[in-house]
Amino acid sequence: MPPEPRQFDVIVLGAGAAGLICAATAGQRGRSVALLEHNGQPGRKILISGGGRCNFTNLHCAPENFISENRHFAKSALALYEPRHFIELVERYGIAWHEKTLGQLFCDRSARAILDMLLAECERGGVEVVLNARAIQVEAASGQFRVRSSAGELRAGALVVATGGLSIPKLGASELAYELARQFGLRVVEPRPALVPLLLGGDEAGWTDLAGVAADVVISAGGVRFREKMLVTHRGVSGPAVLQASSYWRAGDELLLDLAPGLPGAAGLLEPLMRTGARRDLGALKQALRQVLPHRLAGFLAEAAAPGGWSNAALEACERRLHGWKLHPVARRASKRPR
Ligand SMILES: Cc1cc2nc3c(=O)[nH]c(=O)nc-3n(C[C@H](O)[C@H](O)[C@H](O)COP(=O)(O)OP(=O)(O)OC[C@H]3O[C@@H](n4cnc5c(N)ncnc54)[C@H](O)[C@@H]3O)c2cc1C
Repeated sequence: MPPEPRQFDVIVLGAGAAGLICAATAGQRGRSVALLEHNGQPGRKILISGGGRCNFTNLHCAPENFISENRHFAKSALALYEPRHFIELVERYGIAWHEKTLGQLFCDRSARAILDMLLAECERGGVEVVLNARAIQVEAASGQFRVRSSAGELRAGALVVATGGLSIPKLGASELAYELARQFGLRVVEPRPALVPLLLGGDEAGWTDLAGVAADVVISAGGVRFREKMLVTHRGVSGPAVLQASSYWRAGDELLLDLAPGLPGAAGLLEPLMRTGARRDLGALKQALRQVLPHRLAGFLAEAAAPGGWSNAALEACERRLHGWKLHPVARRASKRPR
């Protein structure tokens, strides 16, 4: 005889960041909670987040920063739980943190501290964490969810699906959430990779010769602008500016780059070449660009944007190009989807 199904108020699927805090909160509100995870350990993505230091919140986190078909969702969620609430939690656990840049908060030491904190919060809420719960199947009947898995059958009146996105299957990503949405007749917005590098090809493949070069840029994609670092890679462009823009970029769109964002205006950067008697040639152009750009990038751009003539009008046009450089990515670098 199989063991009797166990009854809970809430079953949470997926012990990642979202599932852990959800289970802890429900438990601390007096609900009996089971948290099911198919990996042998919880929160594996937390451990690699933020380069191992977990970028656990952002001081300037606001509803406008979220991409959603329902813009009001982020408003109500953030009205109930603000970055300061998470910071208070982190401080209660004595986890040392620092602001890296643009309001991004990271642990001083290890992301492990954030995972341990969330697990301790689950323990405080009496959450039963069930690891190695494989082959999860869900049925709904008589106001109850029945969840069957290799860890047995559990039942609850409420089911939370927090099995995360599709990136990095080797850490546990699966399509379970999408399958359950289909099973229960919920509309699914076509998923697409976000926060990913963009690949360059064709006439722009030459950029990859600059692999390793980083520059502060203003980048625009899909009508949204970001000012951060762009990194050239062996296959295209990456770095915080590009990762942000990738969420708004659509195949066929161009990226608009201001490569010298500190110097707005028609002739700020190339002003030295426009002075009476100044040298006006490729060497002088490279020299001017090197004042604000990494040497290799300055050389590359000077070659690519050198004006046909060296008149003031041609130099102004060259300057405008540097403030509005167009790149045409051929694709996103997508992470592997689970099979
Ligand atoms: C390299 C990298 C660095 C990142 N750095 C940061 C950062 O610093 N800060 C930040 O906020 N975000 C960061 N992210 C994004 C981060 O992944 C998410 O913010 C966070 O992991 C989302 O949490 P989640 O709980 O929704 O999903 P996940 O963390 O993916 O958790 C989902 C859980 O569900 C489990 N699961 C999946 N399928 C099943 C199934 N069929 N049965 C049972 N369990 C299942 C998974 O094993 C996993 O434990 C980073 C992402 C990557 C890839």
